[in-house]
Amino acid sequence: MAFESLTDKFQNIFSTLKKKGKLSEQDVKLALREVKLALLEADVNFKVVKKFVKDIRERAVGHEVMESLTPGQQVIKIVNEELVKLMGEEKSDLTFSKESPTVYMMVGLQGAGKTTTTAKLAGSLKKSGKKPLLVACDVYRPAAIKQLQVVGGQIDVPVFTMGDKNKPVDIAKAAIESADKNGNNVVIIDTAGRLHIDEDMMGELIEIKENINPQEILLVVDAMTGQDAVNVAENFNEKIGIDGVILTKLDGDTRGGSALSVRAVTNKPIKFACIGEKLTDIEVFHPERMASRILG
Ligand code: GDP
Repeated sequence: MAFESLTDKFQNIFSTLKKKGKLSEQDVKLALREVKLALLEADVNFKVVKKFVKDIRERAVGHEVMESLTPGQQVIKIVNEELVKLMGEEKSDLTFSKESPTVYMMVGLQGAGKTTTTAKLAGSLKKSGKKPLLVACDVYRPAAIKQLQVVGGQIDVPVFTMGDKNKPVDIAKAAIESADKNGNNVVIIDTAGRLHIDEDMMGELIEIKENINPQEILLVVDAMTGQDAVNVAENFNEKIGIDGVILTKLDGDTRGGSALSVRAVTNKPIKFACIGEKLTDIEVFHPERMASRILG
């Protein structure tokens, strides 16, 4: 799991704090310096770290902590609370439109795990009783269409394709009509991923968005790419507006910084975390549980 190294560091810092009786301001200052270094090493955005540490310092040098019987424990509690706050406090559920079908648009760079995640999401919605339809709108890579068909087959969810000769926006429109006809109440559109964000890519996504007015645009980002993932999220949010983020590859050997910064930088919630290659490896993102995992 990600965060192992961050967790080790936090545990060291905390065990030093716990051993102390009363805490001096200097003790808190030193501990927070360590916290700051640990977060920067985990590739958390610099501005996010600065504010995080400042908020903790303000709370930690107050009366309630310095004069309490277990000041070390109090500081740990504050760090925990601030971590939860950083990741958005509450879990953020998917929303559904009043009229069927609910349409979700999946966006992201190539390799982030978008196609896999699209299928994971469909599988989990199917489990909760929905009837999803997957839509192949990546017309630039025939392999992408095939890939969606394969993963769709694995979870037994239909995949709508029109090959690679039509415009993505037209495919999306036709898919929604087909969903209407066939009783699919959720439509999940897999859009094209490119290696880099470019004008053409954004233009195409905006065209789809404006024509089909999706309930949610979900950005899939690779947690292994650290701060790059956060930059990608910021960029997509500015250009097309996103409703939520899905972090992939949190099972990997990642430093996990994106999980801690993406919400603070974009002000958009992380809705799901993906933790493996299997199509069941997706979970709702719970800030509180994630904070506990990080603190160990
Ligand atoms: P796309 O280009 O964004 O559509 O990416 P793909 O869905 O093809 O995924 C790229 C690679 O990442 C594939 O080998 C996936 O199996 C892998 N992958 C996707 N999500 C995860 C995840 O949560 N954990 C791990 N370990 N691998 C993942």
